[in-house]
Amino acid sequence: MENPTLKDLQEDIRSGRTDLRNVVSTYLRRIEEKDHLNAFLEVFGTEALDRADKITVKIRNGSAGKLAGMVIGLKDNICYKGHRVSASSKILEGFESLFNATVTERLLAEDAIVIGRLNCDEFAMGASNENSAFGPVLNDADPTRVPGGSSGGSAVAVQAGLCRAALGSDTGGSVRQPASFTGTFGIKPTYGRVSRYGLLAYASSFDQIGPITSSVEDMALILEVISGDDEMDATVSEKPVPPYTDLLQSDGKKRIGYIEDCLSSPGIDPEVREHTLEMIRKLQDAGHSVEPVKFPFLDYMVPCYYVLTTAEASSNLARYSGLLFGHRSDKASDLESTFKLSRSEGFGPEVQRRIMTGTFVLSSDHYDAYYTKAQKVRRVIQQRTNALLEEHDFILLPTTPGPAFKLGEKSSDPIAMYLADIFTVQAPLAGIPAISIPTGTHSNGMPFGLQLMAKAYEEAPLLAFSRYLYNLSQNE
Ligand code: GLN
Repeated sequence: MENPTLKDLQEDIRSGRTDLRNVVSTYLRRIEEKDHLNAFLEVFGTEALDRADKITVKIRNGSAGKLAGMVIGLKDNICYKGHRVSASSKILEGFESLFNATVTERLLAEDAIVIGRLNCDEFAMGASNENSAFGPVLNDADPTRVPGGSSGGSAVAVQAGLCRAALGSDTGGSVRQPASFTGTFGIKPTYGRVSRYGLLAYASSFDQIGPITSSVEDMALILEVISGDDEMDATVSEKPVPPYTDLLQSDGKKRIGYIEDCLSSPGIDPEVREHTLEMIRKLQDAGHSVEPVKFPFLDYMVPCYYVLTTAEASSNLARYSGLLFGHRSDKASDLESTFKLSRSEGFGPEVQRRIMTGTFVLSSDHYDAYYTKAQKVRRVIQQRTNALLEEHDFILLPTTPGPAFKLGEKSSDPIAMYLADIFTVQAPLAGIPAISIPTGTHSNGMPFGLQLMAKAYEEAPLLAFSRYLYNLSQNE
C-alpha cells in the first residue's frame, strides 16, 4: 500500500490533492474487506470521519498538531475515554474507560485519529493472539498462521493496511514479536520512557507501550509524542524527550555485539540464523565492528521472566473481583462465591494459569525459592546486559527463533509457547529499549525481524541505526 511520509500527506491535504476523509474511508473499507483477520474488536468509524473533517480544517489553517493525518489503532488494553476497553477478556466485556490513558491524551492532542480498538491476547498474556476471548487474529501474509502476540491485532492492522500505525504494549515481547511475524516495525521503549497511566496492567515493572508502524519515521514521530514525564505515573522519567524525528541519521561506525548463544540455540530456524549471519557480514563490510559476545544466561531468562511476571499479574489482576466493575456471576450467593465464580467465568485458561502460578511463587512457603531468587537473577541479567552495552553501541539478535507458526501449533503446550519469547525477554528484564526491524523473508514466504537493543534512554541512536539497518537489508 502506498505510504507517503506523514509530512507529505499533510502537505497533500493542505493543498487539496488528498482528502483526509477519503484516507479514513479507505481504511474503513479495508477493515471491512479484511474482517476475517479479526484484528479490530471495534471500529470507531463515524467518529474517525468526523475528526478527519475537523483536522482537515486545522491543516488548512495551519493550526494542526504533529500527528495530523495519522490514523491509528489502539490495543484493547489502552484506555480511551468514553470507549469500551476489555483487554480481550470477558471479565471486562462492556466496560467503558472513564479517562484517557496518557498516551491516548497525547495522540489526540497532536491530532491523531483513533480508528478503533485492536484484538490482543487476554490481558496481554500470550505470544500468538490465540488467548483472546474474542477469537484469534490471523496473519495477513498467511491466514493459517498466527500474527504473534500479544499485540497481534495491532501488528496485523498495520501489516494489512487497516490503519497507518498502532499502539501495542510490550511486557516480554508483545510489540516486537508480532512486528517480526508481520513484517512491521515495533519498539519497546526504555522502562520509564512512556507513561503506563491508563494501560491495563499485566506486570507493572515490565510493561511499556510502544508503536507498531510500517516505517522508522512514523515510529520516531509517535514515540516523540507519547514519551516523557507524566505526573500520573511515578515510574516515568523526567529526562527530556529528544526530537527523535530530527535525529534519524546514523553517523559513524558502530560497535555491535551479537550473542553467540542465540545463534547456536537448538530451537532457532536455520534460515533465521543464516539471515542474521548475512546481516552481520553486511554490517562488517560497511565498516562496523560486529563481534560475538558471551551471555551465558539464555536458559535462565524465560523462567525468570515467567516467575516475576506471573507474580506481578496475580497481584494486578486481584482487582477483577466481581465487586467493583466488570463481570459478576449471577450464580453467586455470597461474597466468596462472587469472587470465585466471577473470576472463573470471566478469566480464560491462560490468565487463570498465570494467576495461580503467580500466587504460588508469592506464597510464604515458596517466596524465597522463586520470587526472591528470580529478582536476583533479574539483577544479574540487567548488570551483565548493561556491561555488554558499555563495550558496544548495540546488541543484535533475531527477534524470534523462527517465523510465524501455525494456528494451534503451540496452543496446547504452554512451555513451547513461553519458549517462543526467548529472544525478547532480555530487554524488558533489563529495562532497556529494543526494536524489531523487518529485514528477513523466509522461504515459506513469511517475514521475520532482527532485533537491536541499546542502553536505557538511547532511543535516538537506536532508531537511527534501525533505519540504517533496514536500508542495508534492502540493498542487494
Ligand atoms: N509472550 C509473553 C507473555 O506471554 C509476552 C507478553 C507481553 O509482552 N505482553 O508474557
